[in-house]
Amino acid sequence: MFRYNVDDRQQAIRDRVAAFAQKHIIPFSKELDHRDDPDRFAWDLFKALAKEGFVAQRMPKEYGGCNVSSVEYTTLIEELCYYDAVACLLDAVTELATYPIYTFGTDAQKKKYVPKCASGESIPAFVLTEPGAGSDAVNQKTVAVPDGDHYIINGEKIFIMHGDVADLFVLFVKMADGGDDDKASRKISAIIVEARKDGKLIPGIKVATLKKKMGMRAATTGRIWLENVRVPKENLLGEVGKGFKIAMNTLDGARIGVAAQGLGIAQRALQESIDYAKKRVCFGAPIAKLQAIQWMIADMATQVEAARMLTYKAAQLQDKGEKFTIEASQAKLFASEAAKFCVDRAMQIHGGYGYIGEFSPIEKLYRDQRIMEIYEGTSEIQRLVISSSYLR
Ligand SMILES: Cc1cc2nc3c(=O)[nH]c(=O)nc-3n(C[C@H](O)[C@H](O)[C@H](O)COP(=O)(O)OP(=O)(O)OC[C@H]3O[C@@H](n4cnc5c(N)ncnc54)[C@H](O)[C@@H]3O)c2cc1C
Repeated sequence: MFRYNVDDRQQAIRDRVAAFAQKHIIPFSKELDHRDDPDRFAWDLFKALAKEGFVAQRMPKEYGGCNVSSVEYTTLIEELCYYDAVACLLDAVTELATYPIYTFGTDAQKKKYVPKCASGESIPAFVLTEPGAGSDAVNQKTVAVPDGDHYIINGEKIFIMHGDVADLFVLFVKMADGGDDDKASRKISAIIVEARKDGKLIPGIKVATLKKKMGMRAATTGRIWLENVRVPKENLLGEVGKGFKIAMNTLDGARIGVAAQGLGIAQRALQESIDYAKKRVCFGAPIAKLQAIQWMIADMATQVEAARMLTYKAAQLQDKGEKFTIEASQAKLFASEAAKFCVDRAMQIHGGYGYIGEFSPIEKLYRDQRIMEIYEGTSEIQRLVISSSYLR
C-alpha cells in the first residue's frame, strides 16, 4: 500500500523492517501475545532487534549508535508496529530510557552505559511513575537521601516498561536536600541505578511482573520496590533538581515514538480491512462494493494520513533542532485516537471474524492500541499541554 514518505531513506527502512518482520516477528506474534508468566519478556525478539542494529539507531555514533534522524527512527517504529506493536519494547529502551543518559549524562556515564544499551547487552528502564504519581508526576514519594559518597533511596514505582527485567534504571526521585525551593518539580532528580549485577538484583531492590496486561504482551511491565538502596553520587544524571526537566524533555521525543506506534497499528487495521472487504462476500458481492464499507475505509484512510502528517511534522521539527513539544503532543494525541478509530472500524468491517482472535489480528490490534492513549501522558494530559500553549 502507498505510504507517504518524507524522504527516500524511509522506503529503505520500510523494506528492511518487512524482511526483519518475516523472520523475527510474524512467526512468533501469536505466541508472544499469549504467554503469561514472569519470564515472558521477549528475549529472542529483543536480541534480534539489537543484532539488526535497530536498538542502536538513535544513539550517538561515538557510543556505538547509528545517529539516525528522528524521521528515520519514527519510520522504523511505525513500520515495526505495523507488524506487531511489540516495537513499544524497542522504543522504551531507546527513546525513553537511553535518551536521557546520552543527552544529560556526563562523558563518563555515556561511555559506561550507552554502548551497552546500544548493543542490547543492557536493558534500561525509564522509572518515573509511582502508585500516587502518574499524570501528577511531580508528586514523587521516592526519596534519595545523601549519605557521604552515596544516596540512599527508598520508594516504590509502578507500570515500568520491562522494569521487571531491566538491569539499569533511569530513576526519578525526590532529593532530600533539594534546597528550600518550594516548587516541588525543582526537588526532583534523576539517578542512574545499576539495578542488577551479574544478572542478580542489588540489595534493596525487588521487582514483580504485572499480570493480566490487556495488550502489548511481548513487552513486560513491572513494579519496583526500593528499600535503602545505595547508589554512588557519581550516578546522578544532570544536576540535583533537574530531574523533572529531564523527564519532560525525554517524554517530548518519546511521544513521537508513541504516535508512530499508533500510526503503525492504524495502518495495519486499514490494510487488513481493505483486504478483507475485497474477499468477504455478502448478498452475492464483496462487501467492498457496499457504500457503508467504502465510507468506513475512506474515514480510516483519512485518519491514517492525518496522523502520519502530524507525526512526521513533529519528527522533522526535532531533526531541525526546533521546539516540538506541542507538535509531539498533538501527534501522540491524534495518532493514538486515530488508531482507536481505525481498529474499531476494522472490527466492524470484519464482523465476528474481527472479534475472535483466531480468525484475524483485529482483536489483538484492539487490545494493543488502547495503551497509546494512556502511557507517556494520557490523552487528557496531551490536551492540557496543547491548550496551555495556545491559551498562554
Ligand atoms: C503498559 C504501561 C507501560 C508504562 N510504561 C511506563 C514506563 O516505562 N515508565 C514510567 O515511568 N511509566 C510508565 N507507565 C505509566 C503511565 O505513564 C501512567 O499510567 C500514565 O501517565 C497515567 O498515570 P496513572 O495511570 O497514574 O493515571 P492517573 O494519573 O491517576 O489518571 C487517571 C485519569 O485522570 C485523568 N487526569 C489526571 N490528571 C488530570 C488533569 N490534570 N486533567 C485532566 N485529566 C486528568 C487521566 O488522564 C486519567 O484519565 C506505563 C503504564 C502502562 C499501563
